Formats: sequence, structure tokens, C-alpha cells
Amino acid sequence: MKILVTGGAGFIGSAVIRLAISRGHSVINLDALTYAACLENLAAVADNPTYAFEHADIRNRPEIDRIFGKHQPDMVMHLAAESHVDRSIDGPGTFMETNILGTFNMLEAARKYWAEGGKPDGFRFHHISTDEVYGSLPPDPEVQFTEDTPYDPRSPYSASKASSDHLVRAWAETYGLPVLVTNCSNNYGPYHFPEKLIPVVTLNALHGKPLPIYGDGSNVRDWLYVEDHAEALLLVIERGEVGRTYNIGGENERSNLQLVETICGILDRLRPRGDGSSYSELITFVADRPGHDARYAIDPSRIREELGWRPSVTVEEGLERTVRWYLDNEDWWRPLLSRQGVGQRLGTGR
Ligand code: NAD
Repeated sequence: MKILVTGGAGFIGSAVIRLAISRGHSVINLDALTYAACLENLAAVADNPTYAFEHADIRNRPEIDRIFGKHQPDMVMHLAAESHVDRSIDGPGTFMETNILGTFNMLEAARKYWAEGGKPDGFRFHHISTDEVYGSLPPDPEVQFTEDTPYDPRSPYSASKASSDHLVRAWAETYGLPVLVTNCSNNYGPYHFPEKLIPVVTLNALHGKPLPIYGDGSNVRDWLYVEDHAEALLLVIERGEVGRTYNIGGENERSNLQLVETICGILDRLRPRGDGSSYSELITFVADRPGHDARYAIDPSRIREELGWRPSVTVEEGLERTVRWYLDNEDWWRPLLSRQGVGQRLGTGR
């Protein structure tokens, strides 16, 4: 299968490409190489004859048409997006352009290509989205997001992703484009850009810096190991029912404070501090994110029952692998620390 992946130089897209190539698929990676991109994530596949890279922006429709025409993909996995909620608070414009208008361009280019190719049965447009489109949950563990939960996005990021989801479903209803939508919970794992909670905490700890926790640390997320997510995404595009939405969760709800304490415990074991104290002493509560959603949690019944997928690791196992990866891969993360905005407090709303 030849898959056009957008955003393949990012965190999740690169995990998808590494897995897809290892499974014998051909991949074209379309990526604009924004501040969040790292082609180094793809070093393991870069020289593979089944991998091709196209430096292009999904805001540029003629470029997308050119790439469809040149590579003639069988399917599309659309991951390219601006993805950091804090940055969406400071500068929502690029989120609207890339996440909404960029998705519109992808849909129109895919529709033209699919129609001109005689509407092949096997074509799929798989849109990768987030559980944040569903809003915020109460603490009740019985209440989780299902595929039928009404949309209630509350940040510029989640509103832009919700808009793109609506566009994708409209293109399926109106034009018959064979789409699949997945909404996943918070990912973590190797190659996570050092502006998100888990790499920030891990790297700050190694540098003896404060470990910032927004608000009181009680916000709950359902943590999904990125390589498990990549498995689920390939399964959905290969076996998912056209037109259907699948929620993908980690079955691992933890509060931010619990998560950070777990990371500290792992580091205490793997890289003890010189003075014998715990890294948890570096935990520092900082001003909360405006509109910080209290809880996200995914009901994974549909993907489990219909496609037989479940996450393979607990968050404790995944965090141990992740922390070890950061300890072993300083050459990867060190240069990223000087990228624009990294290491700064963003998204305070001021
Ligand atoms: P990321 O920020 O790590 O990577 C995004 C990639 O998209 C980068 O390589 C970037 O260069 C590229 N990109 C951005 N704007 C572009 C444009 N205009 N044209 C072409 N390429 C562009 O993001 P991620 O964490 O890998 O997320 C991938 C997708 O998964 C996104 O759609 C995101 O909304 C979704 N998602 C992520 C998470 C998560 O926890 N990371 C959770 C749910 C959903």
C-alpha cells in the first residue's frame, strides 16, 4: 500500500511512518518542517527506497495537487497540524490556517485525485484528531468520551481540530469521499518534542530546574504510548469501516501530578541526584492554563470490540521506556532546546 502521510516529521506521524515502512508499506511524507518537525525522527527509514519526503505546506493547494499527481498514493493519513494548546492561546491564527484551511485543502485535493482516478474502492482519507474536541469531563470515572459525545471544544487548538473533523465528515456525506476519523487521547513516548509535559519534566529534572505543574496538578489525561497509537492508526486505515469514527485511548488515566511523580520516581532509580534527594523536590506549581480542561478519558469499547485493539503498555511501563529513551538520546533532544519558544512559559493568556 502506498500511503501519503502529512505531518510525518512530527511526533506521531514519524512513529506511524517508522511502523508503516517496517510493515512493507510505501510512504510519502508531506511536511512543512515547522518548529515542531524533526526529520531526525525518520533517520531509520530515510534511505529506504519505499520512503519519500516532500517538503510542502498544506496551506498551499497547488503543492498538494502536485504531490498527489507525482506519487499516486492509495491512501492518505492526515496528521499535519499545529498541535500545542499553549501556542494556540498565544497565536491562534496559524492553528486556523493549518488545521482548518489546510485540512480543507487536503480534502479538496484528495477528492479531485480520487474522482479523476475513477473513485477506486480502496481509497481512504484517514483524519487524525484529538479527544479534546469533546471538551472536559467531570471526575466521575463512569463518564468517558464515546464516539457519540457531543463536540464541545474549549481552546483555540481543540476548536480548530473540531472544525477540521466537521469538514472531513461533510466531505464524506456530500461527496462520498471514503473517510475515517480517529480521536485519540494524550500521546507520549520517544521523539516527543520538548515543549510537552513529559519531555519538559524529564529534561528539566536532568538539568536540576523546577518541574512546572499547571494549577494544582489535578487535571487528568488518558495517557497513550505513541507506538501503541501508531499500531492503532494502521489498523484503522487497513480494517476500519469507511465513514466510521474510532476513539483511541490509553486506558491509563492519571493526574498531571501523579504522572510527574512517576517520572521523578523513575529518574530517582535510573539517574539518582548527587545529594540523594528526590527529583520530586523540584516540583513547582505555576499559574494554570486559561480554560484548562479538567479531565479527558476515552471509552475504548468500539476499537476494542470491532478491531480487537488494546494498548500494550501501562503508563508506568511506557514512562520507563520513555525516560530511558531520553537518557540515551541527548543528541536528539539537545539541539531542540534552542528552538523558538522551547523552555519558555507559553499560553498564560497575557
Ligand atoms: P507535532 O506538532 O509533533 O507534528 C506536527 C507536524 O505537522 C510537524 O512535523 C509539522 O512540521 C507539520 N506541519 C505543521 N503545519 C504544517 C503545514 N501547514 N503543512 C504541512 N505540515 C505541517 O504533532 P503530533 O503531536 O505528532 O500530532 C499529530 C496529529 O495528531 C495532529 O493532527 C494532532 O492534532 C493529533 N493529536 C495529537 C495528540 C498528542 O498527544 N500529541 C493527541 C491527539 C491528537
